[in-house]
Amino acid sequence: MSFSHLGLSDKVLAAVAATGYTTPTPIQEQAIPHVLARRDVLGIAQTGTGKTAAFVLPMLTMLEKGRARARMPRTLILEPTRELAAQVKENFDKYGAGQKLNVALLIGGVSFGDQDTKLTRGVDVLIATPGRLLDHTERGGLLLTGVELLVIDEADRMLDMGFIPDIERICKMIPFTRQTLFFTATMPAEIRRITETFLHNPEKIEVSRPATTAVGVSQFQVAVGREPHEKRDVLRRLLRDAKDLQNAIIFCNRKREVALLYKSLQKHGFSVGALHGDMDQSARTAALNQFRNGEIPLLVASDVAARGLDIPAVSHVFNFDVPHHADDYVHRIGRTGRAGRAGTAISIVTPLDQKSMVAIEKLTGQTIPHADGGAAIEPSEGGASEAHSRDTEQPREPRTREGSRGGRKPRRGDRERQRSSGDRDRPSAPQPQQAPAAAFTPPSAPPASRTPSIGRAEAARAPRDAASEPADHSHLPAFLLRPVRARV
Ligand code: AMP
Repeated sequence: MSFSHLGLSDKVLAAVAATGYTTPTPIQEQAIPHVLARRDVLGIAQTGTGKTAAFVLPMLTMLEKGRARARMPRTLILEPTRELAAQVKENFDKYGAGQKLNVALLIGGVSFGDQDTKLTRGVDVLIATPGRLLDHTERGGLLLTGVELLVIDEADRMLDMGFIPDIERICKMIPFTRQTLFFTATMPAEIRRITETFLHNPEKIEVSRPATTAVGVSQFQVAVGREPHEKRDVLRRLLRDAKDLQNAIIFCNRKREVALLYKSLQKHGFSVGALHGDMDQSARTAALNQFRNGEIPLLVASDVAARGLDIPAVSHVFNFDVPHHADDYVHRIGRTGRAGRAGTAISIVTPLDQKSMVAIEKLTGQTIPHADGGAAIEPSEGGASEAHSRDTEQPREPRTREGSRGGRKPRRGDRERQRSSGDRDRPSAPQPQQAPAAAFTPPSAPPASRTPSIGRAEAARAPRDAASEPADHSHLPAFLLRPVRARV
């Protein structure tokens, strides 16, 4: 199957050809003809499947006819985070280069006035996060009565972030006769309910089983003790010794932990950036761009980075903190192994994380082998099956509204700033079970953190982090040592 059989316009086909893509992905192949036939679509697809182009390409084709009126956008795309919204805009810039379409981004952290000016000029495609969109409609600067096509992207993420009431409000402002495209990676009951309300006789397209992990990703878990510094020790050792590490996203559960780990790694000489929801937009964008273009090989991130961000080639994902929700695990490790590439995902597991790991194994239907934090990440004998055979009943923590987690007071007039962080700050569930010991010792030297290479100029210069571990850079590939400045 080639793109030319899908009904796309010549201009759009030329833009696709210019990107070098020759074959539509399954979601593109199945969704595009229905979108062009003006059907509602329910797409159950994870990021990395090409779902963005599955709605951007037919939208570009459909928008070739007609013109936008002031303050009345013709189409609306709702995204849960600023980064995802910006990424969709990039897709319109890439595929719509030959068209004179007005594409506007309504996200928090960006000047309200500039956005308002854009709206007055007339917008063909409005890409927005729910909070900032509602701020504009409440101020009377935006009318949604002209919206012919609505895209709700990453709906399960919207649910996680407490955006569903906002989405329901927004939908009520858009004519009933609109076309709706609804994308979600998973189908929890609440999402199923809203698809029944929002969609009219939708074409259901499911391209991969929800909550499955990519085939090409090798997954491991490394057991550590309870002391906070142990996780940092092991992480540094894993980073030094990982085979074929090109770049890595290191996930933490809390914004605070992202900032601490970022500083610790930096002090130990790693070339690292950070991404979490309390950073201002320009710092977030800068960190993401530096990581994307390879300037920094390591990115410490909260879950705001876990879903949907299009970073094509990530070789490794580390769970510095095991996520409390098993579906977050799936989304995190979905950052690697994209587009058929191989990837490695390593979780650092404390005794308190055992229940979460069992829930992850239950959700993914996979046993995650134990490995040691040494040079060769290989499965251990017996450890994995031992973990898998435990009782797997794990109650889910209740999801809370995004704004209630961070403890900051919302600022009047900008709900977007309050909600778009995408970070969780939940307490760890008490889970006393002891982790099984790692089944084999590393073939490399003992942990570098305990055997500082005294006399090395680098190590001698390195300041110590919160846990006062001496730094040893002897194993670091040069590219990991490039200095980088980032605001966190
Ligand atoms: P998405 O799921 O929309 O985040 O897309 C994941 C990645 O796949 C992005 O880097 C896209 O540029 C890329 N992509 C989209 N469509 C195709 C295609 N037909 N062939 C190859 N790569 C694609």
